[in-house]
Amino acid sequence: MENHAVSMEKIVSLCKRRGFVFQSSEIYGGQNGAWDYGPLGIALKNNIQKAWWKEMTQLHDNIVGLDAAILMHPRVWEASGHVANFSDPLVDCKDCKSRFRADDDTQISPENVEKRTCPKCGGPLTEPRSFNLMFKTSIGPAEDSSSVIYLRPETAQGIYVNYKNIAQSNRLKIPFGIAQVGKAFRNEIVTKNFIFRTCEFEQMEMQFFVKPGEDENFFEYWREQRMSYYPKYGIRKDKLRWHHHDKLAHYAKDAYDIEFEFPMGFQELEGIHNRTDFDLTQHTEYSGKDLQYIDQDNGNERFIPYIIETSAGLTRNVLMFLCDAYEEEKVADKGNDDDWRTVLHFHPSIAPVTVAVLPLMKKDGLAELAKEIQGELKEEFMTDYDQSGAIGKRYRRQDEIGTPFCITIDYDSKEDNTVTLRFRDSMEQVRIARSDLVSRIRAEIKSYSRA
Ligand code: ATP
Repeated sequence: MENHAVSMEKIVSLCKRRGFVFQSSEIYGGQNGAWDYGPLGIALKNNIQKAWWKEMTQLHDNIVGLDAAILMHPRVWEASGHVANFSDPLVDCKDCKSRFRADDDTQISPENVEKRTCPKCGGPLTEPRSFNLMFKTSIGPAEDSSSVIYLRPETAQGIYVNYKNIAQSNRLKIPFGIAQVGKAFRNEIVTKNFIFRTCEFEQMEMQFFVKPGEDENFFEYWREQRMSYYPKYGIRKDKLRWHHHDKLAHYAKDAYDIEFEFPMGFQELEGIHNRTDFDLTQHTEYSGKDLQYIDQDNGNERFIPYIIETSAGLTRNVLMFLCDAYEEEKVADKGNDDDWRTVLHFHPSIAPVTVAVLPLMKKDGLAELAKEIQGELKEEFMTDYDQSGAIGKRYRRQDEIGTPFCITIDYDSKEDNTVTLRFRDSMEQVRIARSDLVSRIRAEIKSYSRA
């Protein structure tokens, strides 16, 4: 079949048209770097989060969950190195006032930085200077230096500072992991590409605590786990690749990114880092608390665990799932050769709506029967009900939001208790007994693979 290429403009436009994602504070002209998730967007984001949470906690016996506060003691960020190191080198054009990240060659070439010339207008650039990415605010009634507090720029630190509480209260033995999903904030200089890079975003992080010396094996284990995870939810393997860091962050011994091919090219989706004992050593020093692990199975041996981190953007995952699913497809429908449909090929566990229930007509009791059937499906699946317009149009509306299954109720349904089940990807239709619907859809979800 013929296809049109996906572009960011098309994704943004679909997201607005169908209520996935809106610009924050749009009626006031919009707020840069912030986006609101509409009814379908929050359903999609929740499903992505649920899939990750299942993968990390339900399918791994030795990983538990946490939901730590966004506001943390300011010393946390001194210990973590964020106060000193968490900055981007920036250059500004003195003429056109454009701002670029000096270390990002998609924004400005190394030659331009070297020669201090603006790539937009040719004007003179400032020296590269640091910009701290943490949002600072104040807590309490007086705004003085003692009230400074930060919005967390990553969720990881909440895990580190709780690691002893969690290990002791849950009697965890190394190796074990702690998973967390939550908001993070970074005062990003360049927010672009829709929800790819924003100032307010969500992360899905898992920190795995291991014995020093076993870190490299677990690093490999987690790399393999994370790369094989995405195709389970329908992401095409050829859209994913590894990027090995040659320049490492101050805390890291080794680091790989999983990159996805977004419309603007391959970009980071998730980082897998060997953070060594850096974080817990720092927190030991800054808090004065002993954060050693006591290995009771090995003669009470004491050590500071090494940490393997898997750190993915939840909101960046939303963009990936949208981009990977999007297709404009030419369909030879009813003899009309020039018929196109927009379809999102979401995995059924990720799709915001799983089943749409569509009565062929509103009258003659079909709507009532359809509502009754929807009631039977609701307990198990996210459903939608639509009775307006021609049935072909209604199928297309569901294709566009990625609904994998549509059920049509017609006059025969009243007589013989059968319905039509229509599949989004193949557009095939089968006749099926109403009583078999739940088990059939369940089985289709389980065996789904993208053609
Ligand atoms: P980048 O190089 O893109 O700035 P990073 O290397 O600083 O990202 P990490 O600190 O490793 O990113 O964060 C882990 C994950 O969090 C990233 O892989 C990404 O998915 C997500 N993430 C980081 N910054 C943002 C942001 N500003 N907006 C949306 N997601 C983000």
